Amino acid sequence: MKIGILLGDDIGLEVVPECVKVMKAAASRSGLTIDWRPLPVGKRGHEEHGDTLPAVTEKALHDLNGWVCGPIGHATYPRNDPTWVMPPIRKKYELFAAIRPSLSHSNLKSVHKNVDIVFVRELTEGMLYSETVIAGAPEFRPNNDITVAMRVITRKGSNRVAREAFEIARTRGRKKVTAAHKEPVYRLACGMFAEECRKVAREFPDVTFEESMIDTISMKLVMAPQQYDVVVTTNQFGDILTDIGAGLVGGLGLAPGLCVGERQAMAQATHGSAPDIAGQNAANPYAMIMSGQMLLQWLGRKHGEPKAIAAAEYIRTAVVKVIAEAKCLTKDLGGNSGTTQMGDAIAAAVSAA
Ligand code: ATP
Repeated sequence: MKIGILLGDDIGLEVVPECVKVMKAAASRSGLTIDWRPLPVGKRGHEEHGDTLPAVTEKALHDLNGWVCGPIGHATYPRNDPTWVMPPIRKKYELFAAIRPSLSHSNLKSVHKNVDIVFVRELTEGMLYSETVIAGAPEFRPNNDITVAMRVITRKGSNRVAREAFEIARTRGRKKVTAAHKEPVYRLACGMFAEECRKVAREFPDVTFEESMIDTISMKLVMAPQQYDVVVTTNQFGDILTDIGAGLVGGLGLAPGLCVGERQAMAQATHGSAPDIAGQNAANPYAMIMSGQMLLQWLGRKHGEPKAIAAAEYIRTAVVKVIAEAKCLTKDLGGNSGTTQMGDAIAAAVSAA
């Protein structure tokens, strides 16, 4: 496996090394060989190459199976820097779905217990202008009193995100997919998304399929999230639902993520670069470490590589253990350890598993 290391900015410089440390321990235990490729991005890319997404990084990413990427902190770049990192990366490498789990831990404070949901959010269409069009914007203001915004939904985009959701559901105990939309109102746009979900559902008879209106599921997620397994939805709805998901189980430090394409994936936690706590060894590395865990699991599934799946399982078990022991947790989780101590404890638990 060829995996890139993109540190990102601010706390990325602290949490990504912890993630890589844990992934290395897991790969070594399972016998998986990983060819690691550190690549500049963000502020470091700008300092070394004059660009936050340097050409050398852009070219190298094409040859990789995946990469771990720290949060990007535009506030740290020189003023008026025209470059942009994340929308171009998602677009250039066709990372079409964001997979964001929402998992509660019994000894950590959370709004609900026994939550185990995987949100699958479409990432290339919808209303987000940077990801929908290559020139211009799908928003315009013909006069001072009217603004028009367009939403793009395609069969291809809907079908592939639905397929990803069903493939994930197949690997889980409950094997259930809920498609969240609002077809009765957005008949054509949500209608197309729903039609493609139903089509894919017919190919997965072993997976239970249901549909929910986006407003209904928002309420039910807050009241009884335990009923959901895999939830698939369009870009904007997913943007909101995944934050609800993070809020249900304890906040951003506990929200990992994986952006996936047809042949590559990027591990990236949901949280931002948190400049307020950067450089203090205070950031919670959980989200980044679990993003790396998801990358190994995804690579294992896509490439039929049991060593990658075993490595992912070592990390999952080790993280659960360190959280349950509650001896090496960062402050946001109620502990008094630093980023590196928590990372070390997880890496040690992986090696001892
Ligand atoms: P962005 O706009 O880049 O997504 P943001 O402004 O939404 O970022 P974050 O940078 O994610 O927000 O930070 C929001 C709050 O959560 C901050 O107070 C930050 O310190 C805290 N936070 C974020 N990530 C972590 C983490 N890994 N560990 C501890 N606290 C975190």
